[in-house]
Amino acid sequence: MSAELPNRTVERLRPFGSTVFAEMTALAVATGAVNLGQGFPDTDGPASMLAAAQDAIAAGLNQYAPGAGMPVLRNAIAADRARRSNIQYDPATEILVTVGATEGIAAAILGLVEAGDEVLLIEPYYDSYAAAIALAGARRRTVPLVADGSGYAVDLDALERAIGPDTTLLIVNSPHNPTGTVFTRAELTRIAEIACKHNLLVLTDEVYERLVFDGPSSGHSAGSTPASSGHSAGSTPASSGHSAGSTPVHVPLATLPGMFERTVTVSSAAKTFNATGWKTGWALGPANLIDAVRSAKQFMTFVGGTPFQPAVAHALEHEDQWVAELRRGLQRKRDRLSTSLTKAGLTVKASAGTYFVCADVAPLGETDAVAFCRSLPARIGVAAVPVTAFVDQPEPWKTLVRFAFCKKDDVLDEAAERLLEL
Ligand SMILES: *Cc1c(COP(=O)(O)O)cnc(C)c1O
Repeated sequence: MSAELPNRTVERLRPFGSTVFAEMTALAVATGAVNLGQGFPDTDGPASMLAAAQDAIAAGLNQYAPGAGMPVLRNAIAADRARRSNIQYDPATEILVTVGATEGIAAAILGLVEAGDEVLLIEPYYDSYAAAIALAGARRRTVPLVADGSGYAVDLDALERAIGPDTTLLIVNSPHNPTGTVFTRAELTRIAEIACKHNLLVLTDEVYERLVFDGPSSGHSAGSTPASSGHSAGSTPASSGHSAGSTPVHVPLATLPGMFERTVTVSSAAKTFNATGWKTGWALGPANLIDAVRSAKQFMTFVGGTPFQPAVAHALEHEDQWVAELRRGLQRKRDRLSTSLTKAGLTVKASAGTYFVCADVAPLGETDAVAFCRSLPARIGVAAVPVTAFVDQPEPWKTLVRFAFCKKDDVLDEAAERLLEL
């Protein structure tokens, strides 16, 4: 009967009704395909963290946490940031625990962006940004990443040109989903200069901050110069320091000059500790920005799940070795899947971090990644998502496909065998 019911979804949410991710996952389930479409790991986080959550439940930590999150977690987040990034956030006023990074992003946009304002995105972009902007009654404008060697770089001049009188917020995501690009210090420095010059607020999504790999991926071409070749402001993307041989590093945008006071940083336990189902994230920033995020957050969820909070605090304090091993394992998985994709005839793009690698299906004679991804589960029993699902202007991306490698080796091997049928 439901087919006859009228669509009652509000106008501003209609464009976000059904996602290509849900479609591809449904196809994967229907066909028994290996699902490299959705980016969640298929193994658990550190055992001590899992035990800490169980202990918290047994100890009676089952009621509402304080609105800002449990002090034990806010303190752990502050200590972790200070240790790894040498930046100090006050756990009392500058840290807010959220229901995943997703809520941190939505609450930041709802709390900081006026209806009618313009929000600048770098595309491809994570899908929740556009929906949150629409919920806020704001508008989005996008600037595409551009090809740079076998990877991607930010077109900094285009970024600055896209800023208009109504632009109030810029969203930056590095390490970047879906491409795996880790923005260079030079790029981020220039982004910071642009944000300061135009007095923009910045929301930085750093959920993959710990998942940056050591060396170049097999998608890189060999033989160019090391990271020190980073470009000066305004130069062409080709010299941006994404070249092979450079060691990518995550630079938190809030640590750059002039940025602390205008930046909300969002991160989460999901990707760092293989706990995407815990939905435990955080927003960091100066008190006046975090106040705005809290204003929105308190009426969406008030607080997140209590027992997860001391468990994530424990992991932040004690599981660095586990995270280092996760990172090394993911790097091997990136290489494993990249090799399989290359063997199958796709052109693999460089990925320096995250769970993802993108590959071009044009060498297979394909002209449309959406059609390719729709047919793939039935054809060979593999699911993936087209990069066009992450953009407003599909043209430059129309034969690119995102594959997730955050899966067990036997799952990746099964996918590899099936890909050879292409
Ligand atoms: C997974 C992901 C998120 C969501 O994180 P949660 O903590 O699960 O809400 C946000 N941004 C990006 C880029 C992601 O890949």
